[in-house]
Amino acid sequence: MLLRPLLNSKRPLLLILALALLTLLLGRPASVRASMAGSAQGEDSVRFAVIGDFGSGSPREAGVARIIADWHPDFILTAGDNRYGSTTYDQVIGQFFCDWLKDVEPGEYCVGGNAARNAFFPAAGNHDYSDGRGFQEYLNYFTLPGRDFVSSSGNERYYDVRWGPVHAFILNSNPGEPDGVGANSRQARWLKKALAQSDAPWRIVIFHHAPYSSSSAHGSSVWMQWPFEAWGADAVIGGHDHTYERLQVGGIPYFVNGIGGNSIYGFGDPLPESVVRYNGDYGAMLVEAAPTRITYRFVNRQGEVIDRYEYPVSGANPKPPPVRRWSTAWSTVQIEEVDGGWVLSVCFHSKALSKAFCLHRTIAR
Ligand SMILES: [Zn+2]
Repeated sequence: MLLRPLLNSKRPLLLILALALLTLLLGRPASVRASMAGSAQGEDSVRFAVIGDFGSGSPREAGVARIIADWHPDFILTAGDNRYGSTTYDQVIGQFFCDWLKDVEPGEYCVGGNAARNAFFPAAGNHDYSDGRGFQEYLNYFTLPGRDFVSSSGNERYYDVRWGPVHAFILNSNPGEPDGVGANSRQARWLKKALAQSDAPWRIVIFHHAPYSSSSAHGSSVWMQWPFEAWGADAVIGGHDHTYERLQVGGIPYFVNGIGGNSIYGFGDPLPESVVRYNGDYGAMLVEAAPTRITYRFVNRQGEVIDRYEYPVSGANPKPPPVRRWSTAWSTVQIEEVDGGWVLSVCFHSKALSKAFCLHRTIAR
């Protein structure tokens, strides 16, 4: 149990490094081998943010945008209501998310977008239709999913994006959608086929009108209760209600993520599917996805993690072991908790080398 206080110390790197080297030198390593650099956190994994009902241009939106920027996400998904009132998309999107945008209409805050390729994928909300100069303004502002992506839908109202292990399906849940919003609509048939054809580890469906919600404002949008799980989705994310809620619908999580910066709604009686509910402050979701595991968090403007939900694909460990890792420019020390103890790994690497040299040792509890 020597490791516990050490892990909690404020400056663990030098201590860990020293202990790791000492353990490896004095003990008889269980195995010594050279191995490829890179791990579950390597380029096969992505992190993305999800924000909903946020486009107010207010300090509330700015606060949520700030925590998202701190996460350095690879891309951003939205659950809709990207713009409220008479503001422009440049004011509410360009001002805060220019680093993830590409090929947007040039504006005062964001001239076309700073990203190498588009990394901002909105779903259309009812306010994207009703406010400002209407939905055409949304279509004019964005280029969706982006010039470097192939969307199988052929339109910008609903589309899909593959990014690493994640395949996101962005739907248009607004009843004005020309291809329909019912479970047998043309849009739904597209989704069913696209989900069936996807070989991504994680297939995430996102749109504005949350199919299940126990908020006292809107509640469940029953027309969007499609058989997402049966069609192959791993999670469903909605907004519209200005709350955060996680529900378990069959075997997959459904999220209401509509508390991104416009206003906050109350709750009614919880639905039987409801697991976690929060409306204490504005915030957004941070999702980290590797090929065999995915972690969803909801984090408020203060940086507090309100909810954390981790999911392994079938056949993986029910609860993946926690890994702690410290890195310098030339070395990485990793401690992985396993049954009966820990596996300590020290890897030496440099940018000039394509391979890292690693020493591994098992420490009994
Ligand atoms: Zn809405």
